[in-house]
Amino acid sequence: MYKFLAVLFGVFMIMPAHAEDSKTHSYKLGAFEVTSLINQKAEHDKSLFHYGDSEKLKELLSENDANLGSMGEFYVDTGSRKILFDTGLSSKTSELLESINVQPKDIDMVIITHTHGDHVGGLLDSAGRQNFPNAVIYVSEEELAANPDNPKLAAYGEKVKTFGRFEKIIEGIVSEPAFGHTLGHTVFWLESEGRKMLIWGDVIHAQIQFMYPEIYLRYDTNHLDALDVRNDLLKRVADEDVVVGGMHLAAPAMGRVYKEDIGYRFEPIK
Ligand SMILES: [Zn+2]
Repeated sequence: MYKFLAVLFGVFMIMPAHAEDSKTHSYKLGAFEVTSLINQKAEHDKSLFHYGDSEKLKELLSENDANLGSMGEFYVDTGSRKILFDTGLSSKTSELLESINVQPKDIDMVIITHTHGDHVGGLLDSAGRQNFPNAVIYVSEEELAANPDNPKLAAYGEKVKTFGRFEKIIEGIVSEPAFGHTLGHTVFWLESEGRKMLIWGDVIHAQIQFMYPEIYLRYDTNHLDALDVRNDLLKRVADEDVVVGGMHLAAPAMGRVYKEDIGYRFEPIK
């Protein structure tokens, strides 16, 4: 229940959407075309942040954009497949797809990082109909086991499939467990023509967590496991030439990570 409330809080404690906040940004990854669909800009309420030193936290959060994030998802056209990574909170995702001339009925796979409302909400329209009627929905075994009755997934019945840890879902897309934010939270490695990208779901919620990965927001099921995941992935993507895409990274929600004296720096794609 607590988790559910925290998510509801998260959703209601962000700024209302402005038309100019909702946008799409495209990036060519080898033969894949990756598009971030930004539903809206998000400024997380500062009461949701936690850090060992609360005075220091106050100071950090007073800096510009420290609590900045967004809410969005990713559309990937592999050339032969039209794939959506997460679905956002509502049918806004379908509108954004249409704005880039992709019909929601043409989506053939929806790959879910985790089942929080702001990631699976867009599976259904406000009347409860499937927004992606021709898609197979993929979710990790652990996430489905922890949320067997999720109504958004249940509405897709037999079309919900699970994947395991480090599983090649299709050529060029591999799952990696990143448990902590939720019990089955998963990130995905994309690779095409030798170029790599990591779609990392909710590893980071707000800008300040790049510099101070120890800061967490109240949305995590197990924030210590989530911290291990954040530290591990930040280090790995900073060591390699990997573009990262995150569902709550500020627009364009894709970029590279660099090691700094204190923590890391995120450089958005141009
Ligand atoms: Zn989220």
